[in-house]
Amino acid sequence: MTLSDAFLARQRDELSALKTRLTEELAYYRDAAAPVTLDQAQVGRLSRIDAIGQQEMHKAAAVQTEQRLRRVMVALRKLEAGDYGWCEQCDEDIEPRRLKAQPEVIYCLKCQGASEAH
Ligand SMILES: [Zn+2]
Repeated sequence: MTLSDAFLARQRDELSALKTRLTEELAYYRDAAAPVTLDQAQVGRLSRIDAIGQQEMHKAAAVQTEQRLRRVMVALRKLEAGDYGWCEQCDEDIEPRRLKAQPEVIYCLKCQGASEAH
């Protein structure tokens, strides 16, 4: 199956937009996850725990965002190489509906399921 040029152009737009958004998000989360120096005299124990909890959340969000960004970059590279829409694992077509919903997917449904089951 060959994906139409219009479809590929749309995916390229989506991926570029995603790349920009995720890069910004990642910078934000990394910033927010940086060790906080709190003025002991001004903040109580509870708000310090709050701050640490938030920091952990931001750290986790940064990791997730980075992983997604990496997939977006791979998908973009595949697009440029004319290799977009095929599964990285088994070389089968990835369902266009799936690509539409998540332009950065690089595995077919079957392989994705297999890799998540690990
Ligand atoms: Zn596959």
